[in-house]
Amino acid sequence: MKILVINAGSSSLKYQLMDPNTGDVFAKGQCERIGLDGKLTHKVPGRDNYVAEIAMPSHSEAIQSVLDILVDAQYGVLATTDEIDAVGHRVLHGGMEFSESCIIDDDVIAAVERCIPLGPLHNPANLMGIRACQAIMPNTPQVAVFDTAFHMTMPAKAYMYALPWEYYEKDNVRRYGFHGTSHRYVTLRACELMGRKDIKLINCHLGNGSSLSAVYDGKCQDTSMGLSPLAGVPMGTRTGDIDACVVQYLMNRYGYNVDEMLNILNKKSGVAGMSGVSSDFRDLENAADEGNERAALALEKFAYEVRKYIGSYAAALGGCDVLVFTAGVGENSGEMRERICNGLEYLGVKLDPEKNKIRGQEAVISAADSKVTVLLIPTNEELMIAKDTAELISK
Ligand code: AMP
Repeated sequence: MKILVINAGSSSLKYQLMDPNTGDVFAKGQCERIGLDGKLTHKVPGRDNYVAEIAMPSHSEAIQSVLDILVDAQYGVLATTDEIDAVGHRVLHGGMEFSESCIIDDDVIAAVERCIPLGPLHNPANLMGIRACQAIMPNTPQVAVFDTAFHMTMPAKAYMYALPWEYYEKDNVRRYGFHGTSHRYVTLRACELMGRKDIKLINCHLGNGSSLSAVYDGKCQDTSMGLSPLAGVPMGTRTGDIDACVVQYLMNRYGYNVDEMLNILNKKSGVAGMSGVSSDFRDLENAADEGNERAALALEKFAYEVRKYIGSYAAALGGCDVLVFTAGVGENSGEMRERICNGLEYLGVKLDPEKNKIRGQEAVISAADSKVTVLLIPTNEELMIAKDTAELISK
C-alpha cells in the first residue's frame, strides 16, 4: 500500500510517500515559497536529491509538482499516480468537532472551516492542501488527521480555563493541545515497549515547538499547549505560559496592536528572544559552552520549565512510571535530557549517563535501578497519519 502524507502550511508543503505497514519511505520532500517563486526539494532514499525552482502560484501547482516528480522517469518512484491508494492530511485544529481521524467529505471540510477561528494560521492552509488534492486526484480518498484529536480524552478539570462559563459554552474556549499525532505515536510505542497499557506516562515532545502530555491507560489526561500552540513550556520562538497582564502592559507601553503583540509572543520570544542568539538548541549549547550567559540562562529556563511540568503531571497522574523524550531536542540532545532530569531524583528518575549519550534511536536511557523508566522514542507523525489513513480506507 502507498499513502501520500501531506502537511500543508501557508507557504510550504511537506510530503512523504510511504508504506503504512512497514513505515518504508519511498520518497519525501517539500515545496517552499508557494505563492512566490516556488521551490521543490525531492528526496528518494539512496539517490541524489532533486531541487528545482517551479512556479507555484498556489497549493494546486505545488501538489501538481509533487505528483509530477513522483512519476518522473528519472527522479520518480511511481509509474502512475493511480498507485497512490490515499492521501493523509495533517490538520492542525479539530476543535471540539474531531476526536479521531476521518475520511474527508463535504461535512468534514465544513467542520474544519468552522475551526478556522481557533486555528487561524494553519487551518486555512491545511484546507488549501486538501482542496488542491481533491481537485487533482478526485478519485483518491483523502483522510484528515488532527493535531488536537489525541487530547480530546482530557477530563474537564484539565481542559477548562477558569473563565466565565459562557466563553466555553458559546465560543469553545478551552484547552485543546497540539502535537497530538506525535504524543499518540510515542504513547503507542511506549506501551508496546513496556508490554502494558496501564502505565502513568509523561511524554516530552521537545523540538522547535514543545509540548508535554500526561497519559494514563493510553489516554491523554492533560497537555501543556492550550487553545493555541503558544501555551506551555518556552519554545524556540514562543513564550509558553505567560501572565496575560504582560500583554496588556507591553501593548500600552509600545502601542502594539494585537497582531504585533502576537507576533512577538509567537515569533520573537522563547529561547531565541531570551538569548538573542538563536532558536536552534545546537546554537544555544555552543554559545553557552563559549560563555554566553544569556544562552546558558535560556537553556536553564527551558529545562526548569519542562521539569516543572513533569512534576505537575506526576502530581496529576499520582505518579510516573515512564518518561518519554521525543522530537528534535528530546531525541538528539543528551545534554538537555540530563539538565531536565537533574532534580527529578525524588520522583525516582535516574538517567544512565552512558545510555543517555544515544541519539535518534529508540532506547531505554534510565539506569537499571531507576524507578521511572526513561525512554527515547523518535517520533513519526507521518507514519501515524499513514496508518490512520490506511485503516480508514480499508474499513
Ligand atoms: P523539531 O521541531 O522536532 O524538528 O526539532 C527542531 C529542534 O531540534 C531545533 O531547535 C534543533 O536545534 C533541535 N536539535 C536537533 N538536533 C539537535 C542536537 N543534536 N542537539 C540539540 N538540539 C538539536
